[in-house]
Amino acid sequence: MATTAHLPFLDGRPHLTIGINTADLGHLADEVHVLEDSQAEIVHIDVMDGVFCPMTTVGPPFIKAIKTTLLKDAHLMIVDPVDKVADYVAAGADIITFQVESTRHPHRVLQVLGKAENANDPARGIIRGVAINPGTPVSAIEPLLDELEYVLILAVNPGWGGQKFIESTERRLAEAKQLIARSGRQILLGADGGVTKDNIARVAAMGPNLVVTGSAVFDCKTPADNARYMLDQVRGGAAVTT
Ligand code: ZN
Repeated sequence: MATTAHLPFLDGRPHLTIGINTADLGHLADEVHVLEDSQAEIVHIDVMDGVFCPMTTVGPPFIKAIKTTLLKDAHLMIVDPVDKVADYVAAGADIITFQVESTRHPHRVLQVLGKAENANDPARGIIRGVAINPGTPVSAIEPLLDELEYVLILAVNPGWGGQKFIESTERRLAEAKQLIARSGRQILLGADGGVTKDNIARVAAMGPNLVVTGSAVFDCKTPADNARYMLDQVRGGAAVTT
């Protein structure tokens, strides 16, 4: 993104980005409409290649197949993203986040994304994100802060199902927030993993701009009700303290 002047979601309250991977993919368009009707703003797509993490999920054709007015938020848990991000840009991703552990050249990946044109709206650019695993020091983001718009703190290890939100995430979010404040740049902070109906209000109160949730919306028979519940919980959360 050439400029952060129009970076959305920095309005002092947390926003929800809803993972679509656990939806009924045989009825993808209907599931996306459920999110749109629930006043959701962002759809989160978890991309796993079976190499960076054990699970394999979806890739650029899936992202392209999502026809929506929501922002498309691609979370890449794949090796060597530098050679692959162009395909996600072409598929219409608005937010592209890769794992800092997945490449020797995270700064280079951000430079490549910085020159990319948003396929949905060239005026908007791509929101460039870096995600960090629970075992990675938060300081890993510090050298990258001049070249990104989004820092995503993982609250579980990627690619294994059924994990609980790791409690040290709260401390890591606070640490990332301090680094972001020191950078003097407008940067979004997000939390991803283990967010459930039971803990979403608490996670929102930890002060991220974005909260990722997925199975809490789609793993049951009432995704519309679940989406509305999660959105209400986030919107009732404490103000972001940036
Ligand atoms: Zn994710």
